[in-house]
Amino acid sequence: MNETLRQDLSNIYDNLTKKDTLVKEILIGFLKCEDLIKEDQSMKEYLGNSKSILSFFIPLSNESIQSNDNKTFIPSRQIIDTYKHALNIKVQFIQEVSTFLTTKGYIIYDTNEKLDLDEIAYLSGLGNFGMHTSLITKAGACGCLFSLLTNIELESDAKYTKPTCIYKATGRACLDCFRACQLHALSFDGLDKSVCGKHALDNLEDIDINSDICFKCLSNTPCGCEDPLDR
Ligand code: SF4
Ligand code: SF4
Repeated sequence: MNETLRQDLSNIYDNLTKKDTLVKEILIGFLKCEDLIKEDQSMKEYLGNSKSILSFFIPLSNESIQSNDNKTFIPSRQIIDTYKHALNIKVQFIQEVSTFLTTKGYIIYDTNEKLDLDEIAYLSGLGNFGMHTSLITKAGACGCLFSLLTNIELESDAKYTKPTCIYKATGRACLDCFRACQLHALSFDGLDKSVCGKHALDNLEDIDINSDICFKCLSNTPCGCEDPLDR
């Protein structure tokens, strides 16, 4: 079932994004709800009757990521427009996937905001965490991550066991993500999300995006567009 469904979902995405150069190929991972509960019992109440979680990552184009350089702490117009484009694709994709699965007799449930999308994507085999605390996939860290709950019985995909972050793999070097954040929200203690949120509130409102991140720590890095250790 896993591979047939993965192909069907890929086909839906490919049809939506034919000749679209703003986004790259979608990444798709599956997680059995039981396996999430084994990791974190508290998630049980948010999963309802669902059996599996479908996890997706729409990577932004390399060009848009590279446009978001560190000359200013305001994100580039190009990356903002590309991210908004990816969010629109996400909405259309979810509609089409829901219709497709419903006609096959399956149920799609709303995801609960309490679910940690990064953790789910990690457990679904989409990537591994970087020092910027975001997931680094084989197509990089810059993109649109989302999940759907379903009653389809699926097996979990294998977790990404190898590191994808240069610092985590070697214990030294890189940390470009720390340097890219001009507001010093990143440190060895982790990410202070309140800094990202305040930055968005103070500086990003006029660029018309519903995002609490500026992407600098994900763009000006060797892991923005690819897994830097996958060579
Ligand atoms: S910029 Fe370097 S240290 Fe930071 S997450 Fe990417 S690979 Fe890891
Ligand atoms: S998203 Fe947050 S951590 Fe990343 S560069 Fe912007 S303010 Fe810094």
